[in-house]
Amino acid sequence: MHLAYVALGANLDDPVTQVHAAFDALRGLPASRLLRTSSLYRTAPVGYAEQPDFINAVCLIDTTLSAQALLAALHDIEAAFGRERSFRNAPRTLDLDIIDYAHCRHSSDALTLPHPRAHERSFVMLPLAEIAPDYALGSYGTAAGLAERLGGSGIDLFSPPI
Ligand code: AMP
Repeated sequence: MHLAYVALGANLDDPVTQVHAAFDALRGLPASRLLRTSSLYRTAPVGYAEQPDFINAVCLIDTTLSAQALLAALHDIEAAFGRERSFRNAPRTLDLDIIDYAHCRHSSDALTLPHPRAHERSFVMLPLAEIAPDYALGSYGTAAGLAERLGGSGIDLFSPPI
Protein backbone atom coordinates (compact mmCIF):
# COMPACT_ATOMS: atom_id res chain seq x y z
CA MET A 1 0.00 0.00 0.00
CA HIS A 2 1.08 3.59 -0.63
CA LEU A 3 0.08 6.70 1.28
CA ALA A 4 -1.11 9.61 -0.85
CA TYR A 5 -2.22 13.07 0.22
CA VAL A 6 -4.87 14.62 -2.02
CA ALA A 7 -6.02 18.25 -1.94
CA LEU A 8 -9.61 19.20 -2.72
CA GLY A 9 -10.94 22.58 -3.85
CA ALA A 10 -14.36 23.73 -5.01
CA ASN A 11 -16.02 27.10 -5.51
CA LEU A 12 -19.20 26.48 -7.51
CA ASP A 13 -22.60 24.85 -6.91
CA ASP A 14 -22.54 24.81 -3.09
CA PRO A 15 -18.85 24.00 -2.59
CA VAL A 16 -19.29 22.61 0.95
CA THR A 17 -21.67 19.99 -0.41
CA GLN A 18 -19.28 19.34 -3.31
CA VAL A 19 -16.35 18.70 -0.97
CA HIS A 20 -18.38 16.39 1.29
CA ALA A 21 -19.62 14.52 -1.80
CA ALA A 22 -16.02 14.35 -3.06
CA PHE A 23 -14.96 12.66 0.21
CA ASP A 24 -17.70 10.09 -0.46
CA ALA A 25 -16.43 9.60 -4.03
CA LEU A 26 -12.87 9.16 -2.70
CA ARG A 27 -14.18 6.52 -0.26
CA GLY A 28 -15.29 4.63 -3.39
CA LEU A 29 -11.88 4.66 -5.11
CA PRO A 30 -10.83 1.16 -6.19
CA ALA A 31 -8.03 -0.59 -4.23
CA SER A 32 -7.91 2.30 -1.79
CA ARG A 33 -9.01 3.45 1.64
CA LEU A 34 -9.76 6.99 2.75
CA LEU A 35 -7.89 7.15 6.07
CA ARG A 36 -8.19 10.76 7.20
CA THR A 37 -9.92 13.99 6.19
CA SER A 38 -9.07 17.54 7.28
CA SER A 39 -11.48 20.23 8.30
CA LEU A 40 -12.87 22.40 5.57
CA TYR A 41 -11.26 25.82 5.00
CA ARG A 42 -12.79 28.84 3.28
CA THR A 43 -10.24 30.59 1.07
CA ALA A 44 -10.22 33.79 -0.97
CA PRO A 45 -9.56 33.05 -4.67
CA VAL A 46 -5.97 33.23 -5.94
CA GLY A 47 -4.99 34.43 -9.42
CA TYR A 48 -8.40 35.23 -10.89
CA ALA A 49 -10.18 37.25 -8.16
CA GLU A 50 -13.65 37.74 -9.73
CA GLN A 51 -15.05 34.44 -8.50
CA PRO A 52 -16.58 32.98 -5.32
CA ASP A 53 -14.48 31.89 -2.33
CA PHE A 54 -13.13 28.35 -2.38
CA ILE A 55 -13.70 25.54 0.06
CA ASN A 56 -10.46 23.57 0.47
CA ALA A 57 -9.49 20.41 2.32
CA VAL A 58 -6.88 17.64 2.27
CA CYS A 59 -7.23 13.91 2.78
CA LEU A 60 -5.00 10.88 3.27
CA ILE A 61 -5.56 7.83 1.08
CA ASP A 62 -3.97 4.40 1.38
CA THR A 63 -3.90 2.81 -2.07
CA THR A 64 -2.40 0.06 -4.20
CA LEU A 65 -3.08 2.14 -7.32
CA SER A 66 -0.01 3.59 -9.04
CA ALA A 67 0.30 7.38 -8.87
CA GLN A 68 -0.73 7.57 -12.54
CA ALA A 69 -3.77 5.35 -11.97
CA LEU A 70 -4.73 7.40 -8.91
CA LEU A 71 -4.51 10.63 -10.95
CA ALA A 72 -6.67 9.09 -13.70
CA ALA A 73 -9.25 8.05 -11.07
CA LEU A 74 -9.21 11.59 -9.61
CA HIS A 75 -9.79 13.03 -13.10
CA ASP A 76 -12.78 10.67 -13.48
CA ILE A 77 -14.21 12.00 -10.21
CA GLU A 78 -13.64 15.62 -11.32
CA ALA A 79 -15.43 14.87 -14.60
CA ALA A 80 -18.33 13.25 -12.74
CA PHE A 81 -18.64 16.47 -10.72
CA GLY A 82 -19.04 18.38 -13.98
CA ARG A 83 -15.69 20.13 -14.02
CA GLU A 84 -14.85 21.90 -17.27
CA ARG A 85 -11.20 22.89 -17.84
CA SER A 86 -11.75 26.40 -19.21
CA PHE A 87 -8.75 28.48 -18.14
CA ARG A 88 -6.06 28.51 -15.46
CA ASN A 89 -7.38 29.42 -11.98
CA ALA A 90 -10.97 29.39 -13.32
CA PRO A 91 -13.91 28.60 -11.01
CA ARG A 92 -14.46 24.87 -10.64
CA THR A 93 -16.98 22.49 -9.11
CA LEU A 94 -14.14 20.24 -7.98
CA ASP A 95 -10.35 20.21 -8.26
CA LEU A 96 -8.35 17.23 -7.01
CA ASP A 97 -4.54 17.34 -6.84
CA ILE A 98 -2.07 14.75 -5.62
CA ILE A 99 0.09 16.61 -3.13
CA ASP A 100 2.34 13.68 -2.37
CA TYR A 101 2.44 10.00 -3.23
CA ALA A 102 4.63 7.80 -1.01
CA HIS A 103 7.34 10.49 -0.95
CA CYS A 104 7.95 9.81 -4.68
CA ARG A 105 9.70 12.31 -6.89
CA HIS A 106 8.36 12.29 -10.41
CA SER A 107 8.21 14.76 -13.25
CA SER A 108 6.32 14.36 -16.50
CA ASP A 109 3.80 16.44 -18.45
CA ALA A 110 0.92 14.61 -16.81
CA LEU A 111 2.19 14.31 -13.24
CA THR A 112 4.68 16.10 -10.99
CA LEU A 113 5.36 14.78 -7.49
CA PRO A 114 5.36 16.22 -4.98
CA HIS A 115 2.86 18.73 -6.41
CA PRO A 116 5.01 21.63 -7.68
CA ARG A 117 2.96 24.43 -6.12
CA ALA A 118 1.56 22.80 -2.95
CA HIS A 119 4.36 24.15 -0.74
CA GLU A 120 3.45 27.77 -1.68
CA ARG A 121 -0.27 27.37 -0.98
CA SER A 122 -1.50 27.96 2.55
CA PHE A 123 -4.89 26.52 1.55
CA VAL A 124 -3.07 23.20 1.05
CA MET A 125 -0.50 23.43 3.87
CA LEU A 126 -2.94 24.43 6.64
CA PRO A 127 -5.22 21.42 6.15
CA LEU A 128 -2.21 19.14 5.53
CA ALA A 129 -0.59 20.35 8.76
CA GLU A 130 -3.86 19.57 10.57
CA ILE A 131 -3.86 15.88 9.57
CA ALA A 132 -0.10 15.27 9.12
CA PRO A 133 1.99 17.99 10.83
CA ASP A 134 5.25 16.03 10.66
CA TYR A 135 4.85 14.98 7.03
CA ALA A 136 7.93 16.03 5.04
CA LEU A 137 7.03 17.42 1.66
CA GLY A 138 10.03 16.72 -0.56
CA SER A 139 12.86 19.09 0.36
CA TYR A 140 10.44 21.85 1.41
CA GLY A 141 10.16 20.85 5.07
CA THR A 142 7.31 19.58 7.20
CA ALA A 143 3.68 20.48 6.62
CA ALA A 144 3.56 22.23 10.02
CA GLY A 145 6.68 24.27 9.25
CA LEU A 146 5.40 25.27 5.81
CA ALA A 147 1.98 26.17 7.21
CA GLU A 148 3.56 28.37 9.87
CA ARG A 149 5.78 30.11 7.31
CA LEU A 150 2.89 30.73 4.90
CA GLY A 151 0.48 31.92 7.59
CA GLY A 152 -3.30 31.90 7.50
CA SER A 153 -4.08 35.15 5.75
CA GLY A 154 -7.24 34.87 3.64
CA ILE A 155 -8.15 31.49 5.10
CA ASP A 156 -10.80 30.62 7.70
CA LEU A 157 -11.44 27.29 9.35
CA PHE A 158 -14.89 26.45 8.09
CA SER A 159 -16.07 23.36 9.98
CA PRO A 160 -14.82 20.70 12.40
CA PRO A 161 -13.43 17.40 11.03
CA ILE A 162 -16.09 14.92 9.86
P1 AMP B 1 -5.47 21.67 -12.71
O1 AMP B 1 -6.21 22.19 -13.91
O2 AMP B 1 -4.83 22.72 -11.88
O3 AMP B 1 -6.24 20.66 -11.91
O4 AMP B 1 -4.25 20.87 -13.32
C1 AMP B 1 -4.47 19.60 -13.78
C2 AMP B 1 -3.31 19.17 -14.65
O5 AMP B 1 -2.11 19.13 -13.89
C3 AMP B 1 -3.59 17.80 -15.22
O6 AMP B 1 -3.35 17.83 -16.60
C4 AMP B 1 -2.60 16.91 -14.50
O7 AMP B 1 -2.14 15.89 -15.37
C5 AMP B 1 -1.49 17.86 -14.11
N1 AMP B 1 -0.77 17.50 -12.90
C6 AMP B 1 0.58 17.47 -12.76
N2 AMP B 1 0.95 17.10 -11.53
C7 AMP B 1 -0.21 16.90 -10.83
C8 AMP B 1 -0.47 16.50 -9.48
N3 AMP B 1 0.52 16.23 -8.59
N4 AMP B 1 -1.79 16.39 -9.11
C9 AMP B 1 -2.77 16.66 -10.00
N5 AMP B 1 -2.59 17.04 -11.27
C10 AMP B 1 -1.30 17.16 -11.70
